[in-house]
Amino acid sequence: MKPAPRQLADGLLAGDRAALARAITLAESALPRHQELAEEVLELCLPHSGGAVRLGISGVPGAGKSTFVDALGVHLVRERAETVAVLAVDPTSPVHGGSILGDKTRMPRLASDPRAFIRPSPSGGSLGGVARATRQAILLCEAAGYRNILVETVGVGQSEVAVADMTDCFLLLLLPGAGDELQGMKRGIMELVDLVIINKADGGNEGRAARARSEYEGALHLFPPPPHGFPPVVSVCSAQENRGVREAWELVLRHRAHMQASGWLSRRRAAQARRWLVELIEGHLRETFLRSAAVRARLPGLEGLVEAGALSPLRAARQLLEAWEPAGED
Ligand code: GDP
Repeated sequence: MKPAPRQLADGLLAGDRAALARAITLAESALPRHQELAEEVLELCLPHSGGAVRLGISGVPGAGKSTFVDALGVHLVRERAETVAVLAVDPTSPVHGGSILGDKTRMPRLASDPRAFIRPSPSGGSLGGVARATRQAILLCEAAGYRNILVETVGVGQSEVAVADMTDCFLLLLLPGAGDELQGMKRGIMELVDLVIINKADGGNEGRAARARSEYEGALHLFPPPPHGFPPVVSVCSAQENRGVREAWELVLRHRAHMQASGWLSRRRAAQARRWLVELIEGHLRETFLRSAAVRARLPGLEGLVEAGALSPLRAARQLLEAWEPAGED
């Protein structure tokens, strides 16, 4: 049965969690007619979105992301009377069958709280598809009244870039014993980071965590200061023992206050919206191109010629693009 977008949006705006979940499912769907419905719901919700604190959280598997999100979420709802939505971006989860990000059972305390909404990563898609759905989910959760959105991702590949590009503040969760990680630390990732939190500073690891903190501070110092004037801050916590979690949130708020006062928050969001637009256009063009009958008829043959060295990729691309008739297709 086709749900009416107006009805869905009204339910969602009134705080109906089932309506919110349903709208997110539509946004995650690969079916064009679902995506159109999701778009209509989103249009109705947009005037009510944008008000949340959007925090991205990354870290390697085992760093303690779920434990940290659980502790942070509980702090927000119980001690600050806030509402929290937890989303996840993990394009690898269905393939690898490992732990699922955003799984409710991994955040037991938060999952049982009515002021929290937890949604696992959309599954079975490219990073582009997963990121597109999550971007929409952020806006839908905001329209449903969630004032804080935590977006979890794994510390591998491009998913961190995608999450940093849909949040206001990007937090990297690390383990004590910085040496190896410092060496492997990719410059690109450090440029995305606003806050570094060293987790598991407990059970005799406190000294190592403190050393890691000063090593990271030293390493981050070598990067040029960011244009917005808020260099990354390093802190320690024990998500398990609930120490340093409140302080981590205070850092998020300090970062936010700076970004708001300096005008960088709206600039960051404007740049993200522009990049999202470009991504959507690129995605659509790629899909229409590859679906086109003219391209499908010629592509395998041209690929063979390019592989055999009989035709240059330049010429093959030109032939395909010339054969493509987007207006007549679809
Ligand atoms: P994720 O894969 O990054 O989501 O990590 P999890 O939250 O699932 O945590 C991985 C393991 O580390 C689990 O066994 C947790 O109980 C444990 N863990 C998480 N946070 C802490 C912490 O602050 N201290 C200690 N000692 N263990 C922790």
